[in-house]
Amino acid sequence: MKALLIGTKNEHKLREIRDILLRVPLVLQALPASVPEVVEDAPTLEGNAVLKACGYAKATGQPCLAEDTGLEVDALDGAPGVHTARYAGPDADAAANRRKLLAALDGVPLPRRTARFRCVAALARPSGELIATVEGVLEGRIALAERGAGGFGYDPLFLPTGPHDERTLAELSDDEKNAISHRGRAVAALRPKLLESI
Ligand code: IMP
Repeated sequence: MKALLIGTKNEHKLREIRDILLRVPLVLQALPASVPEVVEDAPTLEGNAVLKACGYAKATGQPCLAEDTGLEVDALDGAPGVHTARYAGPDADAAANRRKLLAALDGVPLPRRTARFRCVAALARPSGELIATVEGVLEGRIALAERGAGGFGYDPLFLPTGPHDERTLAELSDDEKNAISHRGRAVAALRPKLLESI
């Protein structure tokens, strides 16, 4: 079986991508600890996904799938967007980011707390040449308070639109989240390319 590198240092993303690609006949490999982290300084999600996929492919000589995700909140004019990871500052953890988001939306009622996760996934050849980028979006709302212990990042605050909209992503099972998530949709859209291009 061919190998595919998953270009992320985030253990949660790695686990989700492994689950999403469970039945795809590829050996999924984690990024070796010795590979330096790619600096994500592009102005767009797509730019950062391409930097990671092409950079990690070139650094390792392996085909690489990488993604970049942003949370867009309508009441905040699309913020935090490309700055989602460092919303509460360069060293902020996920809890601090969630606290800042709740504070920014203080007083905004649930119907006006519409938001979406946008994920851009990129696939690169071992030479570092880009094969394709795809996008996956999950619409929803930002909850009035955190709920749930699953998932990661902003999951305890995100109420996905659809059959699960009473529960945050952190209250869904891993399978329920992966079936509807931005990451699940983006990686699924790349599946044909994975099999034909690497
Ligand atoms: P990045 O794509 O690694 O730059 O992550 C962007 C930010 O979005 C980080 O703060 C992540 O914790 C958060 N994030 C990415 N994917 C998810 C998700 O599926 N659920 C909740 N938060 C996420």
